[in-house]
Amino acid sequence: MDYLVELNAEQRRAVEHGCADLNDAAPLLIIAGAGSGKTNTLAHRVAHLVVSGADPRRIMLLTFSRRAVVEMQRRVERIMTKALGPNAGAMADALAWSGTFHAMGARLLREYAPDIGLEPAFTIHDRQDSADLMNLVRHDLDFSKMEKRFPMKDTCLAIYSRAVNAETPLGEVLGGVFPWCAEWEIELQRLFGAYVEAKQNQNVLDYDDLLLYWAQMMLVPALADDLSDRFDHVLIDEYQDTNRLQASILLNFKPTGRGLTVVGDDAQSIYSFRAATVRNILDFPGHFTPKAELITLEQNYRSTQPILAAANAVIDLASERFTKNLWSGRASSDLPALVNVADDNAQAGYIVENILANREAGQRLKSQAVLFRTSSHSATLEVELTRRNIPFVKFGGLKFLEAAHIKDVLAVLRWAHNLRDRVAGFRVAQLLPGIGPGTAAKLLDGITESGSAAAGLHGFRPPAAAAAHWQDFVETMSTLHLGAAGWPSELDLACRWYLPFMEQRFEDALQRQTDLTQLAQIAASYPTRERFLTELTLDPPDATSDQAGPPLLDEDYLILSTIHSAKGQEWSSVFVLNVVDGCIPSDLGVGSTPEIEEERRLLYVAMTRAKDQLHLMVPQRFFTHGQRSLGDRHVYAQRTRFIPNAMTTHFQSRYWPRAQSASAAARSIRAPIDMKARMRGMWGSS
Ligand code: ATP
Ligand code: MG
Repeated sequence: MDYLVELNAEQRRAVEHGCADLNDAAPLLIIAGAGSGKTNTLAHRVAHLVVSGADPRRIMLLTFSRRAVVEMQRRVERIMTKALGPNAGAMADALAWSGTFHAMGARLLREYAPDIGLEPAFTIHDRQDSADLMNLVRHDLDFSKMEKRFPMKDTCLAIYSRAVNAETPLGEVLGGVFPWCAEWEIELQRLFGAYVEAKQNQNVLDYDDLLLYWAQMMLVPALADDLSDRFDHVLIDEYQDTNRLQASILLNFKPTGRGLTVVGDDAQSIYSFRAATVRNILDFPGHFTPKAELITLEQNYRSTQPILAAANAVIDLASERFTKNLWSGRASSDLPALVNVADDNAQAGYIVENILANREAGQRLKSQAVLFRTSSHSATLEVELTRRNIPFVKFGGLKFLEAAHIKDVLAVLRWAHNLRDRVAGFRVAQLLPGIGPGTAAKLLDGITESGSAAAGLHGFRPPAAAAAHWQDFVETMSTLHLGAAGWPSELDLACRWYLPFMEQRFEDALQRQTDLTQLAQIAASYPTRERFLTELTLDPPDATSDQAGPPLLDEDYLILSTIHSAKGQEWSSVFVLNVVDGCIPSDLGVGSTPEIEEERRLLYVAMTRAKDQLHLMVPQRFFTHGQRSLGDRHVYAQRTRFIPNAMTTHFQSRYWPRAQSASAAARSIRAPIDMKARMRGMWGSS
């Protein structure tokens, strides 16, 4: 096979593993450092399985994000084309079961809903909806009034989510991760009980439920057998960032491990705040008898040798590590840069200048990326990019769907789909003038009791202010509920109904209207309302330089991304913002050793995204955008502790702007220094 020639011996062994006898592939673990070709090997393996005769419809491919899924499918198709020619397209399309854990869970649950006592028309709550429902329940139980200190809705949701995903008792989660909430254990238990009940009554699932129900389903032997029979091969990338629930799904899915391939790198485990555990990958080989086949990869094909050496040096100081250091054959005389700048503005200036110079030299904007610890860190840069007319797409920041007007329209559709979904119902009903939470609740109760949209709505006497809109509202909701308009015309109907309310609510309604047009375009690519709602909720498009629009698909644009969202990707040039203590490691995560270690791995992930150029930005002062302990202000900064002096030999030091003396640089300071903040910045106390 031509495509196997591209691989090194170990990669090839991984790709060919078990392909001689497809029904008897022992479990396989590929564990290796960044850029060693893990994802590439996985794509080759999928292609090779299919070329060797495996049925693509019986392969499940689990990746971390929608973007990763699309990228993987593209790679698989390209490889298969070499072996199968024009047939490859159809074969790749038949790989229908590829997606994130959550998306695959949602699909299986719809299909198996009747077997597990779920109603198939369930709607899915995103984090914001879940927090809203948590809040409704909190109010119902009067906890919000009880005492001011009772945890806020987002904290409640975080605690709940943590307990579910880590499969850990509440008390332990509180003691370990949320000690300041431990005194509320009994109330939280009641709250969570009521929250679960509310979800059931309303036939909604939150993100965690998609895993939880799936895991539960795997405990039913008949269903687990059924699923195991349905899929011959299950392959997972980025296994180091799965949590216990996901591992238990997998191990019950393929209890013998036959046909199971997992891929990961313990040095890149960066999601423990979502209860991911690196133990999953470390425990994998020993879980099966006979043991899983273990393959390690040692060559990095991504980065130049100096970039890799610097990244290796950073991760070498990690306290616990399994994967070995990599080597790279890509020589270069260019050391990665530690760029000293005065502040946020200078940081943005340096980046823009270098990005434009790179573009002059032939690098597309798309092959360059700016990475940061927290979404708000890129604010100044975004302003500068906009001013200089440089288009960009931001990953991991504000999502298209988080814009209020988009959420409103989707709530209309979601409510029509599942009238028991109270969060959606509340949102929609309160769009009407004169309807507040109290009236909305009565309306929703009425609908739940009568069990019919039309009857529930018709039977309701609206307050006077809403009377003029009532007839139209009832007709629209009834049509949508019955699905009478058909998909995707339903979206147009919802938008048409919503438009007058949008015009009243938002000054920039005209701009928002173009978003609705874009939403309609997106909708047209989904076969049904249900698929549209599910998949959009699970993986919404990212925001662009227009703030709320979906990505500009064909144009050239710069990538702005949180480090977390940059996982698995690579760019020719990478700029990392604020490589200073307080940002990396974040001042929110500098308590325990495990937290610090995770921040170190985060820096390693950021550095290993770069192929040819790496710039670590070190501002002398940085602006804390609403950071919990500091508020909005400038604080003095020091280079991250993860790059101590002894390590600087791996870098070239740059000062920018070059010609400016220190005093000239100081003149660009635009806000007065706050000494108190400086102290806090240095010692982290208040
Ligand atoms: P990460 O840990 O960041 O997810 P990874 O181990 O998954 O990285 P890939 O993204 O698969 O690595 O590969 C990194 C780069 O190396 C890609 O550009 C890929 O095409 C290239 N590559 C992988 N294997 C080879 C090979 N044998 N020969 C040439 N290039 C390769
Ligand atoms: Mg990868």
